[in-house]
Amino acid sequence: MTDGVDGKYADARRRLLERVMAETRETGGVTGCHELSERVLRALTTVPRHRFVPMEQLDLAYADIPLPIGRGQTISQPFIVALMTELLVPDPQAVVLEIGTGSGYQTAVLASLVRQVYSVERIPELAEAAARRLHELGYTNVEVRADDGGQGWEEQAPFDGIMVTAAAAEVPPALVRQLKPGGRLVIPVGEQHRSQDLRVLHKNEQGVLETRSVLPVVFVPLVRDRE
Ligand code: SAH
Repeated sequence: MTDGVDGKYADARRRLLERVMAETRETGGVTGCHELSERVLRALTTVPRHRFVPMEQLDLAYADIPLPIGRGQTISQPFIVALMTELLVPDPQAVVLEIGTGSGYQTAVLASLVRQVYSVERIPELAEAAARRLHELGYTNVEVRADDGGQGWEEQAPFDGIMVTAAAAEVPPALVRQLKPGGRLVIPVGEQHRSQDLRVLHKNEQGVLETRSVLPVVFVPLVRDRE
Protein backbone atom coordinates (compact mmCIF):
# COMPACT_ATOMS: atom_id res chain seq x y z
CA MET A 1 0.00 0.00 0.00
CA THR A 2 2.69 2.45 -0.93
CA ASP A 3 3.04 4.71 -3.92
CA GLY A 4 5.71 6.00 -6.24
CA VAL A 5 6.54 9.17 -4.32
CA ASP A 6 6.70 7.26 -1.07
CA GLY A 7 10.48 7.53 -0.76
CA LYS A 8 10.25 11.30 -0.60
CA TYR A 9 8.33 11.04 2.66
CA ALA A 10 10.13 8.07 4.22
CA ASP A 11 12.33 10.14 6.55
CA ALA A 12 9.49 12.40 7.64
CA ARG A 13 7.35 9.36 8.34
CA ARG A 14 10.10 7.71 10.40
CA ARG A 15 10.52 10.87 12.47
CA LEU A 16 6.77 11.06 12.99
CA LEU A 17 6.68 7.46 14.20
CA GLU A 18 9.44 8.22 16.70
CA ARG A 19 7.52 11.25 17.92
CA VAL A 20 4.30 9.25 18.29
CA MET A 21 6.11 6.49 20.20
CA ALA A 22 7.71 9.06 22.53
CA GLU A 23 4.35 10.74 23.12
CA THR A 24 2.78 7.36 23.87
CA ARG A 25 5.43 6.69 26.52
CA GLU A 26 5.11 10.21 28.00
CA THR A 27 1.32 9.96 28.34
CA GLY A 28 1.29 6.29 29.36
CA GLY A 29 0.79 7.11 33.04
CA VAL A 30 -2.47 8.88 32.18
CA THR A 31 -3.75 6.78 29.26
CA GLY A 32 -2.68 3.36 30.53
CA CYS A 33 -1.22 2.76 27.05
CA HIS A 34 2.57 2.85 27.48
CA GLU A 35 3.56 1.53 24.10
CA LEU A 36 2.10 0.80 20.70
CA SER A 37 1.79 -2.78 19.54
CA GLU A 38 3.86 -3.96 16.58
CA ARG A 39 0.72 -4.30 14.45
CA VAL A 40 -0.43 -0.74 15.07
CA LEU A 41 3.07 0.61 14.43
CA ARG A 42 3.23 -1.28 11.16
CA ALA A 43 -0.14 0.13 10.10
CA LEU A 44 1.04 3.67 10.84
CA THR A 45 4.21 3.00 8.86
CA THR A 46 2.40 1.72 5.79
CA VAL A 47 -0.48 4.19 5.41
CA PRO A 48 0.71 7.17 3.33
CA ARG A 49 -0.70 10.14 5.29
CA HIS A 50 0.36 12.54 2.53
CA ARG A 51 -2.33 11.02 0.32
CA PHE A 52 -5.03 12.05 2.80
CA VAL A 53 -4.18 15.74 3.25
CA PRO A 54 -5.02 18.60 0.85
CA MET A 55 -2.25 19.63 -1.59
CA GLU A 56 -1.60 22.87 0.27
CA GLN A 57 -0.90 20.90 3.48
CA LEU A 58 1.54 18.42 1.91
CA ASP A 59 4.56 19.87 3.73
CA LEU A 60 2.85 19.17 7.03
CA ALA A 61 1.56 15.70 6.19
CA TYR A 62 3.98 14.05 8.63
CA ALA A 63 3.83 16.64 11.41
CA ASP A 64 2.14 15.37 14.57
CA ILE A 65 -0.75 17.82 14.30
CA PRO A 66 -4.33 17.81 13.02
CA LEU A 67 -4.78 19.49 9.61
CA PRO A 68 -7.76 21.09 7.87
CA ILE A 69 -9.36 18.90 5.17
CA GLY A 70 -12.10 21.30 4.03
CA ARG A 71 -15.71 21.87 5.08
CA GLY A 72 -14.46 22.93 8.53
CA GLN A 73 -13.26 19.40 9.31
CA THR A 74 -9.85 18.04 10.24
CA ILE A 75 -7.68 14.96 9.82
CA SER A 76 -6.75 13.89 13.37
CA GLN A 77 -3.32 14.25 14.94
CA PRO A 78 -1.29 11.06 14.27
CA PHE A 79 -0.66 10.43 17.98
CA ILE A 80 -4.42 10.45 18.62
CA VAL A 81 -5.00 8.11 15.66
CA ALA A 82 -2.36 5.77 17.11
CA LEU A 83 -3.81 5.91 20.62
CA MET A 84 -7.43 5.40 19.54
CA THR A 85 -6.42 2.51 17.31
CA GLU A 86 -4.49 0.87 20.12
CA LEU A 87 -7.41 1.35 22.54
CA LEU A 88 -9.74 -0.47 20.16
CA VAL A 89 -7.47 -3.55 20.40
CA PRO A 90 -8.19 -4.48 16.79
CA ASP A 91 -8.11 -8.21 16.09
CA PRO A 92 -7.24 -9.28 12.50
CA GLN A 93 -10.66 -10.92 12.17
CA ALA A 94 -12.59 -7.94 13.57
CA VAL A 95 -15.36 -6.06 11.81
CA VAL A 96 -15.15 -2.41 12.82
CA LEU A 97 -17.47 0.57 12.47
CA GLU A 98 -15.99 4.06 12.23
CA ILE A 99 -18.06 7.22 12.56
CA GLY A 100 -16.55 10.35 10.96
CA THR A 101 -14.62 9.15 7.89
CA GLY A 102 -13.29 12.66 7.14
CA SER A 103 -10.19 12.21 4.99
CA GLY A 104 -10.26 8.42 5.38
CA TYR A 105 -6.85 8.28 7.07
CA GLN A 106 -8.06 6.62 10.27
CA THR A 107 -10.21 4.36 8.09
CA ALA A 108 -7.09 3.23 6.19
CA VAL A 109 -5.18 2.57 9.41
CA LEU A 110 -8.07 0.41 10.65
CA ALA A 111 -8.47 -1.32 7.27
CA SER A 112 -4.85 -2.42 7.33
CA LEU A 113 -5.44 -4.05 10.74
CA VAL A 114 -8.85 -5.72 10.63
CA ARG A 115 -11.00 -7.82 8.32
CA GLN A 116 -13.62 -5.23 7.39
CA VAL A 117 -14.27 -1.54 8.09
CA TYR A 118 -17.60 0.24 7.70
CA SER A 119 -17.27 4.00 7.89
CA VAL A 120 -19.98 6.68 8.01
CA GLU A 121 -19.45 10.34 7.09
CA ARG A 122 -22.27 12.89 7.13
CA ILE A 123 -20.79 15.26 4.51
CA PRO A 124 -21.34 13.54 1.13
CA GLU A 125 -18.41 15.20 -0.66
CA LEU A 126 -15.97 14.10 2.07
CA ALA A 127 -17.44 10.58 2.04
CA GLU A 128 -17.04 10.38 -1.74
CA ALA A 129 -13.49 11.75 -1.74
CA ALA A 130 -12.45 9.36 1.04
CA ALA A 131 -14.04 6.35 -0.69
CA ARG A 132 -12.26 7.21 -3.96
CA ARG A 133 -8.91 7.71 -2.21
CA LEU A 134 -9.20 4.43 -0.29
CA HIS A 135 -10.09 2.62 -3.50
CA GLU A 136 -7.13 4.17 -5.36
CA LEU A 137 -4.81 3.09 -2.57
CA GLY A 138 -6.03 -0.48 -2.88
CA TYR A 139 -8.06 -0.92 0.30
CA THR A 140 -10.70 -3.46 -0.63
CA ASN A 141 -12.11 -4.13 2.84
CA VAL A 142 -13.74 -0.73 3.39
CA GLU A 143 -17.23 0.57 2.77
CA VAL A 144 -18.01 4.26 3.19
CA ARG A 145 -21.52 5.62 3.48
CA ALA A 146 -22.78 9.22 3.61
CA ASP A 147 -25.21 9.43 6.53
CA ASP A 148 -25.63 10.44 10.16
CA GLY A 149 -23.35 8.04 11.99
CA GLY A 150 -25.11 8.61 15.29
CA GLN A 151 -27.44 5.86 14.10
CA GLY A 152 -24.55 3.47 13.46
CA TRP A 153 -24.94 1.03 10.54
CA GLU A 154 -27.79 -1.25 11.51
CA GLU A 155 -27.57 -3.57 8.48
CA GLN A 156 -23.95 -4.52 9.23
CA ALA A 157 -24.22 -4.68 13.03
CA PRO A 158 -23.08 -6.01 15.43
CA PHE A 159 -19.46 -4.85 15.41
CA ASP A 160 -16.37 -6.09 17.24
CA GLY A 161 -15.26 -2.51 17.69
CA ILE A 162 -16.60 1.00 17.06
CA MET A 163 -14.52 4.16 16.77
CA VAL A 164 -16.02 7.64 16.72
CA THR A 165 -13.71 10.40 15.49
CA ALA A 166 -15.99 13.35 16.28
CA ALA A 167 -17.01 14.56 19.73
CA ALA A 168 -20.43 13.47 20.99
CA ALA A 169 -22.29 15.31 23.77
CA GLU A 170 -23.38 11.85 24.90
CA VAL A 171 -22.60 8.34 23.73
CA PRO A 172 -25.18 7.55 21.00
CA PRO A 173 -27.31 4.63 22.30
CA ALA A 174 -27.49 3.06 18.80
CA LEU A 175 -23.72 2.58 18.86
CA VAL A 176 -23.83 0.84 22.23
CA ARG A 177 -26.55 -1.47 20.91
CA GLN A 178 -24.53 -2.29 17.79
CA LEU A 179 -21.45 -3.30 19.77
CA LYS A 180 -20.86 -7.04 20.31
CA PRO A 181 -20.32 -8.41 23.81
CA GLY A 182 -16.56 -8.31 24.34
CA GLY A 183 -16.27 -5.31 22.00
CA ARG A 184 -14.92 -1.81 22.58
CA LEU A 185 -16.26 1.60 21.68
CA VAL A 186 -13.70 4.42 21.56
CA ILE A 187 -15.27 7.88 21.59
CA PRO A 188 -14.54 11.49 22.61
CA VAL A 189 -17.38 12.72 24.82
CA GLY A 190 -18.07 16.36 25.70
CA GLU A 191 -19.20 19.75 24.53
CA GLN A 192 -17.77 21.74 21.63
CA HIS A 193 -15.29 24.59 22.05
CA ARG A 194 -13.40 22.91 24.87
CA SER A 195 -11.59 19.69 25.43
CA GLN A 196 -13.52 16.46 25.56
CA ASP A 197 -12.96 13.24 27.39
CA LEU A 198 -11.65 10.35 25.28
CA ARG A 199 -13.42 7.26 26.61
CA VAL A 200 -13.26 3.53 26.09
CA LEU A 201 -16.46 1.61 26.73
CA HIS A 202 -16.00 -2.12 27.06
CA LYS A 203 -19.08 -4.31 26.74
CA ASN A 204 -18.40 -7.48 28.70
CA GLU A 205 -19.68 -10.92 27.75
CA GLN A 206 -22.79 -10.32 29.90
CA GLY A 207 -23.49 -7.13 27.95
CA VAL A 208 -22.56 -4.83 30.86
CA LEU A 209 -20.61 -1.66 30.00
CA GLU A 210 -17.47 -0.55 31.77
CA THR A 211 -16.27 2.96 30.93
CA ARG A 212 -12.77 4.34 31.30
CA SER A 213 -11.66 7.94 30.76
CA VAL A 214 -8.39 8.02 28.90
CA LEU A 215 -7.27 11.54 27.97
CA PRO A 216 -8.56 15.08 27.33
CA VAL A 217 -8.79 15.57 23.54
CA VAL A 218 -10.17 18.12 21.07
CA PHE A 219 -12.40 16.95 18.21
CA VAL A 220 -14.86 18.57 15.84
CA PRO A 221 -18.46 17.89 16.96
CA LEU A 222 -20.53 14.85 16.06
CA VAL A 223 -23.45 16.58 14.36
CA ARG A 224 -26.92 15.16 14.87
CA ASP A 225 -28.91 15.13 11.65
CA ARG A 226 -31.54 12.69 12.88
CA GLU A 227 -33.07 12.07 16.27
N1 SAH B 1 -11.09 10.22 11.15
C1 SAH B 1 -11.04 11.42 10.36
C2 SAH B 1 -11.33 12.62 11.22
C3 SAH B 1 -12.39 13.45 10.61
S1 SAH B 1 -12.99 14.80 11.57
C4 SAH B 1 -9.73 11.53 9.62
O1 SAH B 1 -8.79 10.79 9.96
O2 SAH B 1 -9.62 12.33 8.69
C5 SAH B 1 -14.59 14.19 11.99
C6 SAH B 1 -15.53 13.89 10.86
O3 SAH B 1 -16.78 13.50 11.45
C7 SAH B 1 -15.84 15.07 9.97
O4 SAH B 1 -15.54 14.74 8.64
C8 SAH B 1 -17.34 15.30 10.15
O5 SAH B 1 -18.02 15.69 8.97
C9 SAH B 1 -17.81 13.93 10.60
N2 SAH B 1 -19.07 13.90 11.33
C10 SAH B 1 -19.56 14.80 12.20
N3 SAH B 1 -20.76 14.42 12.66
C11 SAH B 1 -21.04 13.23 12.05
C12 SAH B 1 -22.13 12.33 12.09
N4 SAH B 1 -23.19 12.56 12.86
N5 SAH B 1 -22.08 11.23 11.34
C13 SAH B 1 -21.02 10.96 10.54
N6 SAH B 1 -19.95 11.78 10.46
C14 SAH B 1 -19.95 12.90 11.20
